[in-house]
Amino acid sequence: MWQTLGQDRAVAALQRGLAQGRRAHAYLLVGPPQVGKGTLALELAQALNCEGPEPPCQECSPCRRIAAGIHADVQVVGVEATDGGIHKDISIDQIRELGRVVSLRPFEGRCRVIIIDPADAMNEAAQNAFLKTLEEPPPDVLFVLITSRPQALRATILSRCQRLDLSPLPLPQLEEALRQRWSVAPRQAQLLARLSRGRLGWAIAAHQDEEMMRVRHEALTDIRALPERTIQERFGYASDVAGRFSRDRTTVLAVLDLWRDWWRDVLLASSGCQDVITNLDLGDILKAEASRYDPAQVVVFLRSLAATKRRLEENVNPRLALEVLMLDLPAPP
Ligand SMILES: [Zn+2]
Repeated sequence: MWQTLGQDRAVAALQRGLAQGRRAHAYLLVGPPQVGKGTLALELAQALNCEGPEPPCQECSPCRRIAAGIHADVQVVGVEATDGGIHKDISIDQIRELGRVVSLRPFEGRCRVIIIDPADAMNEAAQNAFLKTLEEPPPDVLFVLITSRPQALRATILSRCQRLDLSPLPLPQLEEALRQRWSVAPRQAQLLARLSRGRLGWAIAAHQDEEMMRVRHEALTDIRALPERTIQERFGYASDVAGRFSRDRTTVLAVLDLWRDWWRDVLLASSGCQDVITNLDLGDILKAEASRYDPAQVVVFLRSLAATKRRLEENVNPRLALEVLMLDLPAPP
């Protein structure tokens, strides 16, 4: 039984491929961060190595060891942090090492599964080296590439993968799953569903790790305070965030999503649509904020925010892009 929730099309495509013995040599799982791509990749590895009657059974020894991350034939290749600092790329050395590993027969299972997460972290040299491996796929090896930015991968790599798209879950379905499978209290489940924008992985992580909600609160404190600050202080903020962008773009883009949700909520609260806000736990504050700002200015800011996100995706100088955004903040009374 496949456990992946809400990704019926992707799961059905995988099941068909496996049932007909015609799985791809490489799959590309595409979707927003923490939507469930990594979970689905592991489940595929389980399906290929399961010893139960209905793969993936989640209960046999290979299934359990894959879930625990200790199966010798299932390997996740990601960005490695070293003593010298944080790496932001998957290096050519990592890919060369991979080439060596995949030339060996699986140690214990039927199929070696290599998950590259995130695949877009492979730098150009690494992508070139990986392409060579992909062009002559060794038998009994499956590659699963995970990305939220397929445009950052070479077309020659994309063309050799079967692409499966994962989408956010409808919020009621996600909310119900949180309540039933993870025993989250109803009000909290509703909040996490909205904050996650349908990304189940994010919602579960936020449920299990209080730190994530603390980080959100800190970010929201800045977001609320910045319109009152001087232009120098705002540019200081822009410079801070821009500095982080080169190391950790996912986190910075997530902060911009918090900006968007917050100001969209201010707009909703000012037009009496309190019940559809994202930041459910901050309804009273939002109501007070809504009375302070001119909705027309909030709309201008939200447009500027969308443009900033586009510019960052297009690799415009991040500091410049964020400074422009800081100039468009709604004016406090
Ligand atoms: Zn199993």
